[in-house]
Amino acid sequence: MKKHNFSAGPAVLPASVMKKASEAVIDFNGMGLSLIEISHRSKEFIAVMERAQDLALELTDLKSKGYKAMFLQGGASMQFLMTAYNLLETKAGYINTGAWSTKAIKEAKLFGEVVEVASSKDYNFNYIPKGYTIPSDLDYLHITTNNTIFGTQFQEIPQTDVPLIADMSSDIFSRNIDYSKFDLFYAGAQKNMGPSGTTLVIVKEELLAKISHTIPSMMNYKVQLKSDSMFNTPPVFPIYTSMLTLEWLQENGGINQIEKHNKAKAKLIYNEIDQNSAFEGFAAKGDRSHMNATFNLAKGIDGSVFDDLWNEANISGLKGHRSVGGYRASIYNALPLESVSLLVDIMKKFEQTL
Ligand SMILES: *Cc1c(COP(=O)(O)O)cnc(C)c1O
Repeated sequence: MKKHNFSAGPAVLPASVMKKASEAVIDFNGMGLSLIEISHRSKEFIAVMERAQDLALELTDLKSKGYKAMFLQGGASMQFLMTAYNLLETKAGYINTGAWSTKAIKEAKLFGEVVEVASSKDYNFNYIPKGYTIPSDLDYLHITTNNTIFGTQFQEIPQTDVPLIADMSSDIFSRNIDYSKFDLFYAGAQKNMGPSGTTLVIVKEELLAKISHTIPSMMNYKVQLKSDSMFNTPPVFPIYTSMLTLEWLQENGGINQIEKHNKAKAKLIYNEIDQNSAFEGFAAKGDRSHMNATFNLAKGIDGSVFDDLWNEANISGLKGHRSVGGYRASIYNALPLESVSLLVDIMKKFEQTL
């Protein structure tokens, strides 16, 4: 029986996507060949790549606005250095909201001066900084829109005239924001889109125009764009599966609909965290993530009965990250509301045992 999958990543995908993806591994589109044994330069796969790129731009409402979508390799972690390699000329700004931002900062420092514009490290990243000043002489400002480990999320996107770059690995396509505020954003597939192995990068083309220094081909956005994400053999299965998830999103009403669904799930779980005496939320209330809900046991509460209860209920992936402890319920796009309802019932049941 399929478990209720609250994993932070790789994470739950829609059942219909899983079915189509697995069928394509045996026979892709009735070709008598597997998706993973045909040329990536075949017309059949080129159609997949183009459709995936097109859907990514359509869902973010960036079509005919000068943006391009690429499916690259190396994960979001590769983007930590690729963004800086391409775009850091003298000085870049970073808002440090957690472990992933910290890693992005470390990589960027290899390429130039890095200013930590704001940080929430003082409280173990349980909030999103506010009220800071963004210097106007930055090559770009980098933010992590959703902090997967700590369960915080930017509810408002910083206003700035410098190019804005974002790691959206764990909340891309989950909410209706103005994606055109960003000059470049990226997301590893395995949180909200597909299997690990590909990273979606969406970039405003004019941002790349001014780059003149030498960059190795695989790291070079302009080279990757020119070769249509096929400078070398692309990860065909993760890209195909991502395309299926984006089709699923579009067929189900796009980002407007999924945002409603995600809000309903978040409300359910956070209401329970707040009213249940056995638990307390980790993230500051106003900065809570709609994708990863982090919570700990209240003081003096032993969680072993709770652990037995959720395990018996076929729930998986609830353990918190070691830097926060406690629990983390990742409630990505594909997680059904019923899974959250079940978890809430278990939390109530646990409270009654105390
Ligand atoms: C998971 C995650 C990453 C790391 O992604 P990889 O694809 O494994 O490199 C980076 N940033 C955020 C916000 C993440 O959630």
